[in-house]
Amino acid sequence: MRKKMVAGNWKMNKNLHESILLADDIRQAVETLSADRLPAVVLAPAFPFLYPVSQTLRANSQLAVAAQYCHAARSGAFTGEVSVEMIRSTGARYVIIGHSERRMLFGEKEEEINKKIKMVLEAGLHPVLCVGEKLEERKENRHFDAVAHQLNSALENCSPADLQHLIVAYEPVWAIGTGLTASAAQAQEMHVFIRQTIKQKTDDAFANQLMVLYGGSCNPSNAAELFACPDVDGGLIGGASLNAADFVSIIKAAMK
Ligand code: PEP
Repeated sequence: MRKKMVAGNWKMNKNLHESILLADDIRQAVETLSADRLPAVVLAPAFPFLYPVSQTLRANSQLAVAAQYCHAARSGAFTGEVSVEMIRSTGARYVIIGHSERRMLFGEKEEEINKKIKMVLEAGLHPVLCVGEKLEERKENRHFDAVAHQLNSALENCSPADLQHLIVAYEPVWAIGTGLTASAAQAQEMHVFIRQTIKQKTDDAFANQLMVLYGGSCNPSNAAELFACPDVDGGLIGGASLNAADFVSIIKAAMK
């Protein structure tokens, strides 16, 4: 059986003090939950707070930290940027790659996403690759093509061995921060498709153990239904991860 994961993408929210408080509240609540059913819990604060949040969680191995982004180069004259090695040195174990906000607001290109995936895998960290169709692609029934294209370009020239640490998040762009959620049937159908697409690059065993998360207005009211789908292995949560009680209730939904 695949393990589940609930990851919170805090985006550009929470200052240092608030980030530590939120992480600590989540840690304390998680410590009261039964360890055997607990999903992996991942928190993605802003870059300056990766280390302090990582320190706040350190005592609990079920909790981990993710960066929301990274640069594709190893190091160099890239003012303002952050490399995978820098992220690794903070104690973070995951890096979100290809979030739709990075693609749309910052022009992140597929070639760059592919380089970043390779860089993260090479560093022994877990990339959380975000894919998902825009509203017009869904309306025109092109959502499977759009997601297949994103997966194939992001993972180009990655061997099955390279991909061992990969996690995929299906995040329909029309559902992110909008209050619209994919139905459980839509999520399940796309997660099966993602698994099949990855299977073509790897094999049955790999595709069956691949963790595929759902993201897009997931909240305490809809999480249980989404996570009950056999191919939905948990969630990547934006807005609802900024409140400890909501986030913990989503974690509990992944334990059912
Ligand atoms: C996200 O940005 O990854 C996300 C899923 O956001 P929200 O939960 O707010 O839709």
